[in-house]
Amino acid sequence: MISKNEILEIFDKYNKDEITIATLGSHTSLHILKGAKLEGFSTVCITMKGRDVPYKRFKVADKFIYVDNFSDIKNEEIQEKLRELNAIVVPHGSFIAYCGLDNVENNFLVPMFGNRKILRWESERSLEGKLLREAGIRVPKKYESPEDIDGTVIVKFPGARGGRGYFIASSTEEFYKKAEDLKKRGILTDEDIANAHIEEYVVGTNFCIHYFYSPLKDEVELLGMDKRYESNIDGLVRIPAKDQLEMEINPSYVITGNIPVVIRESLLPQVFDMGDKLVAKAKELVPPGMIGPFCLQCLCNEDLELVVFEMSARTDGGTNSFMNGSPYSFLYNGEPLSMGQRIAREIKMALQLNMIDKVIS
Ligand code: ATP
Repeated sequence: MISKNEILEIFDKYNKDEITIATLGSHTSLHILKGAKLEGFSTVCITMKGRDVPYKRFKVADKFIYVDNFSDIKNEEIQEKLRELNAIVVPHGSFIAYCGLDNVENNFLVPMFGNRKILRWESERSLEGKLLREAGIRVPKKYESPEDIDGTVIVKFPGARGGRGYFIASSTEEFYKKAEDLKKRGILTDEDIANAHIEEYVVGTNFCIHYFYSPLKDEVELLGMDKRYESNIDGLVRIPAKDQLEMEINPSYVITGNIPVVIRESLLPQVFDMGDKLVAKAKELVPPGMIGPFCLQCLCNEDLELVVFEMSARTDGGTNSFMNGSPYSFLYNGEPLSMGQRIAREIKMALQLNMIDKVIS
């Protein structure tokens, strides 16, 4: 694991008046780069031919670093270019996927915004569950074996497959019948079935809650919320039930978009409580804990209980739903604040206060 001291030594050599905010051109980079520009930083977008169009059209990047493949971002030559630009990298889901978690932890010697140690805790289901449960946050009931199924469950499979092959079952028999059918169709393997993650299916409404923890202010802020627009499930529900029964379509949950949403106001105490609890527990389990953006993906059941089925410990894709601010981010200073701009503002404040060690790793 790269130590904080190694990163601070690199940062010490930087020209503090010429800090550049850098990220990979994908995922949530539009508002990360735009937000950095609005806060007065120069920006660099790491991209490849054919993928640079949005960043050029929207003019959010002052400079481009071209790679042949996104996975080249881990290469020493790219790291060197970033250090020459006095870059602080803002990691997002695609950045981590292409760089590789092992490289982020052990080889990527460029200062990054946030706590790089916590990224493993969002990517490994067992660690994620431990953090959420120990924080006292309600998560779906987990079933150790298909034989234990005693209600409606959702069956998930390892790896970032965008919910392909997920299915819903209400009994052990139905589990094996559906798993066998998906295996015959080549969607699942025996190994997948043996490693299936089985959890309570929560019937409820979806809220993905985007928080920002400021270590400088020691405060959890609520910056926005979205709900997911997933294929094919959101198309499937437009088909009348009798036609659905005749069509042999398996549901999938491939994310294709995000829709801004606000939550019933009386649920906000629960929203803040969950954010506060997670930040407190993360400090204890993965010091220094959560830094900057994190997201809790919830379902709100009819008892108005928020059940968290997934966590991100960095900027989540749903933050794109409030690039020009959300009703919540507006409430802080009456301005249209995006997550990207909030991140840049924290970096700017840390530089001014000489407290950069609190926000990078
Ligand atoms: P990843 O980022 O790992 O691909 P994800 O963010 O898509 O994951 P998953 O846990 O894979 O989240 O869930 C995909 C979708 O399945 C969710 O957006 C939600 O619609 C549905 N879902 C997940 N867990 C549950 C649950 N316990 N009950 C009901 N629906 C669920």
